[in-house]
Amino acid sequence: MTDEEGYITAVEVKRYAYCPRIVFITHVLHYEEPMSEAMEAGLEHHDESTIAPLIARLKASRILRSVELWSGELGIAGKPDYLIVTRMGEYVPVEVKWAVSENGRIRWDHKLQLSAYALLVDENFRTTVKRGYVYYLRDKRVVELKVDDSLKKMTRKVIESIHRMILEERDPGVTVRQARCLSCGYKAYCRPGLNERRGVSRSI
Ligand code: SF4
Repeated sequence: MTDEEGYITAVEVKRYAYCPRIVFITHVLHYEEPMSEAMEAGLEHHDESTIAPLIARLKASRILRSVELWSGELGIAGKPDYLIVTRMGEYVPVEVKWAVSENGRIRWDHKLQLSAYALLVDENFRTTVKRGYVYYLRDKRVVELKVDDSLKKMTRKVIESIHRMILEERDPGVTVRQARCLSCGYKAYCRPGLNERRGVSRSI
């Protein structure tokens, strides 16, 4: 299934949570982010040994890596980095991020991405995901996320909003703080000259 068939991905849920305009840029304007250092590192630097302590703690009986999941009902697809199945039959999605946690807590955009994976796992494996984990490589922290019904409900609403925005080709505009734009891989398309403007204001 493809984007043309109306699917978005869990990664796009993450991007939307970071800034809705990113999804407008990728899905309506069809620009893609150039490969960043963080993206390259994320592709290169993890295998199962990275999450070995978590595998032991959860008493994993199976570990599925990058399993492709689809939801026709929600119109989303996604591949969690790892899906751990415990000896008790619990399904636990795990993401590995080349990033730092938010003072030991999970970042909002990662929270929604993990919750989107939980919805996919629920539907594809006819189960109920109750928790997931993000492993932050840069500060070497494993952070647990409780995935309850209210988070799943909110994630469903976000997914609906994304589909609506794409369908209506509606530009959400700049809604985030400038600090967020400065580390955004899409600023060249979205806010060209941002760094220069910042330089001018500094020199005043
Ligand atoms: S530059 Fe800022 S407003 Fe534009 S997509 Fe990035 S974070 Fe969003």
